[in-house]
Amino acid sequence: MEHSHASRVQTVIGDPVSEKPVVSREDMEEIFADIQADLRFDHELNGCLNCGICTATCPAAHYYDFSPREIVQLLWTENLDGIYDAMQEKIWSCAQCYTCAARCPFGNSPGGLVMLMRETAIKHGMESAKNVLRPFSRVMLKLISTGNQLAPDMITKDAFPDWGPNVAKIDAPLKLLRKAIPMPTLNTTETAWEVNLKTSVELYTIWEMTGVLDQLETVDQNLFDVITDIMDEKRQDYEDWKEEQQDAED
Ligand code: SF4
Ligand code: SF4
Repeated sequence: MEHSHASRVQTVIGDPVSEKPVVSREDMEEIFADIQADLRFDHELNGCLNCGICTATCPAAHYYDFSPREIVQLLWTENLDGIYDAMQEKIWSCAQCYTCAARCPFGNSPGGLVMLMRETAIKHGMESAKNVLRPFSRVMLKLISTGNQLAPDMITKDAFPDWGPNVAKIDAPLKLLRKAIPMPTLNTTETAWEVNLKTSVELYTIWEMTGVLDQLETVDQNLFDVITDIMDEKRQDYEDWKEEQQDAED
């Protein structure tokens, strides 16, 4: 993108000296075209009365400078500057609860539209997407490499400093406690449940075919490299395991 070498200030709030726009009109048009091109767009935006029912029922609107009504209006009126601006920060406040979709008299899904905007922000490697996803790199690593979102060994004192004195409670003999669970597939600490090699390899194919890995590469090259190394290793392990099975049969 044109502003990729700009400073953070230039990227986020613009250059106070230059009158040159932070992002070109063409880029904004391309971003909006990508949002509109998604198959879900026409299902989730049917018009807008500007009634504000969605915002009145939106939990995120109560706590943040965020309004689903505003997001829908920006898209409905094709306000390219406003759409680009909202993608810098506001769209990341949505909790994806879809209360708005259940209430809108027009059958819109503001939460669904926010999801499209987020996906487009990731596709275009926007700084806002990188910043929002960075703190979740541990979770993304676990999720993409194992299919588990959270594992017992991720619950450490360092990871949860905001727990205050309660953090001492997680200083437990995890391995021993997990072994006490009657289901053997849950006697794990590195994953929440045991994930066999075949399942892992199938999962990797899904990530590849659905474009998840491409998106990850756009927003976090380092994490992408780590995860693809893990995938290569697991795939090799699976091939070795299949060979062993074949040898045993012969
Ligand atoms: S899905 Fe997002 S926009 Fe809709 S009500 Fe929930 S938090 Fe608000
Ligand atoms: S509830 Fe529907 S029609 Fe009303 S402002 Fe929200 S999106 Fe527009």
